[in-house]
Amino acid sequence: MTATASSKPASVVVVGSINMDMVSHSPRLPAPGETLVGEAFVMAPGGKGANQAVAAARLGAEVAFVSRVGTRQHGAELLAALGAEGVHTAAVATDATALPGIAVIMVASQGGENSIVYVPGSNAQLSAADVEQAKAVLQAARVVVAQLEVPQPAIAHAFALARAAGVTTILNAAPALPVNAELLAQTQWLVLNETEAGQMAGMPSASLEQVRAAAEALLARGPGQVVVTLGAQGVLLCSAQQGAQHLPAQRVTAVDTVGAGDTFVGGLATGLAEGWAPADAVRLGQAAAALAVSRAGVQTAMPRRAELAAELQ
Ligand code: ATP
Repeated sequence: MTATASSKPASVVVVGSINMDMVSHSPRLPAPGETLVGEAFVMAPGGKGANQAVAAARLGAEVAFVSRVGTRQHGAELLAALGAEGVHTAAVATDATALPGIAVIMVASQGGENSIVYVPGSNAQLSAADVEQAKAVLQAARVVVAQLEVPQPAIAHAFALARAAGVTTILNAAPALPVNAELLAQTQWLVLNETEAGQMAGMPSASLEQVRAAAEALLARGPGQVVVTLGAQGVLLCSAQQGAQHLPAQRVTAVDTVGAGDTFVGGLATGLAEGWAPADAVRLGQAAAALAVSRAGVQTAMPRRAELAAELQ
């Protein structure tokens, strides 16, 4: 059955990017100037923002997306696909003259190496004025989530609107980029993987002890909670009140780990929007991500709520 966006207010609002991923598979990567005959080609919707919106919607959250999408070429198709997942897209600013974000990905079937060219397109044009247009949607939410694939002043404005209405803010600080002080000041939950945590803190993050020290340094910069994802090792959840808690990942046979972080963040946001305690919301994200990595694909691998264990329903 195809889902359609309902008229209920969204409890989770995602401010972020949407892309079309164009993926070719060939025996190896071509050398500069070389043409290779490929084995397969797949186009699939992506972008951290859209991925996290789909993850939360599949887990049962009412989700709205705030973004800027160029509707030339694949843009309209991307928005329609998000709507078909039940995500509200009415607060998305559209631009008929612009191109959406596109990722051109070459995957070598022998060895799995890849090369990617990412063209941000309309994702780079999201402005604070666009976000202002979505004020009512943002302020009616329980949780607002963003990543760093759209401009930080737009995210900071969304978070300021959210905080003024008592809405919880989650920043997934990926990809690894310096975060503006203004944005960090509005961030209640900072979520990032161990590499991003080390870079942001300017500290090593190879061992669990080092990750913990980096997370504590990040906590001192203002967020109430810092969540560091550790792949198959799980999550380190840190807060000033509760200290650091290591939550191990479910043991699964990993088939494709791309998008694990996005599935996790979608699950965390869903749990928090339902009023769950921090560690329980983290467990929901982990359970969803564990199922996602056991299947191929990114959005296609994200589970529905009914697939999770009974205590997470
Ligand atoms: P990506 O960039 O590939 O989306 P990421 O680096 O942002 O991933 P990870 O730390 O790899 O994020 O994964 C997020 C969460 O997903 C982990 O904290 C864990 O709970 C779950 N996860 C990831 N890989 C595995 C795995 N192999 N087995 C079980 N759970 C996993």
